[in-house]
Amino acid sequence: MDVIRARTAGFCMGVGLALQKLEAALQERAADTARICTLGPIIHNPQVLEDYARKGVARLEEPEEARPGDMVVIRAHGVTRQTEERLRAGGARVLDATCPKVKKAQLSIARATAGGAALLLFGEADHPEVRGLVSYAGGPAYVFGDMEALEALSLPEDRPYVLASQTTQDRALFAVIERLLRGRLPGLTVLATICDATRERQDEARSIAARADVMVVVGGRESGNTRRLADVARAAGIATYHVETVDELRPEFFAQKARAGLTAGASTPKSLIEAAEERLTSL
Ligand code: SF4
Repeated sequence: MDVIRARTAGFCMGVGLALQKLEAALQERAADTARICTLGPIIHNPQVLEDYARKGVARLEEPEEARPGDMVVIRAHGVTRQTEERLRAGGARVLDATCPKVKKAQLSIARATAGGAALLLFGEADHPEVRGLVSYAGGPAYVFGDMEALEALSLPEDRPYVLASQTTQDRALFAVIERLLRGRLPGLTVLATICDATRERQDEARSIAARADVMVVVGGRESGNTRRLADVARAAGIATYHVETVDELRPEFFAQKARAGLTAGASTPKSLIEAAEERLTSL
């Protein structure tokens, strides 16, 4: 079977860097390091997480679970300022693997709101990256996930405003929001915090789905960006299979299909993508 493999399949820059830092920490582990830990899952991929658990990486859910001397890796989408302080206060060493683009957004928000300006943040309020970004605001923060929520906000006019976005939001929609708010809030400061990795991956999945008979999306079932990628492919009207490993690829999925599209989420390792490509090619 012919396979069209997406160029954008697999780790984005931020996830790749975070895993490199964790690998380096494991290799250079100092004798006085009690444990190497991650705060929450380092990525949403069960196969990678099992591998790190086997290598002795402990997974903490709360900063207070860290013991003095532990090295705690902060994952790509970052944590709140307070979480980092709680880790350090407990005696842990912090290895900051926050994606450089998320870190830049955090620091831009801190600088732009240091004088007390209010932050208007376009994003999902309960997403860890958003909670982290909000914690860097020097004034009040308003988070909205869509136009309706934005229009429902009552914004006092006695202070300056700063508009920013969660890194994975849609750039076109953000431009519409910016135009609307510039009309309402003269002197609005707008920060460029969107990362195009997610959109590029979705655009490529859409384009491949238009040329394939069936689509395979590889990645963790808990991975939001992988699930959205499968939705994009399904919306193109072809049969789409979201699988975590190659063993889930059953030959009957591909009966009478000549060409398969293959993509993967930002947390899927290359080895799983390559295994899927090999299996599909052999069908
Ligand atoms: S999607 Fe972009 S901002 Fe988010 S971790 Fe990946 S590279 Fe960084």
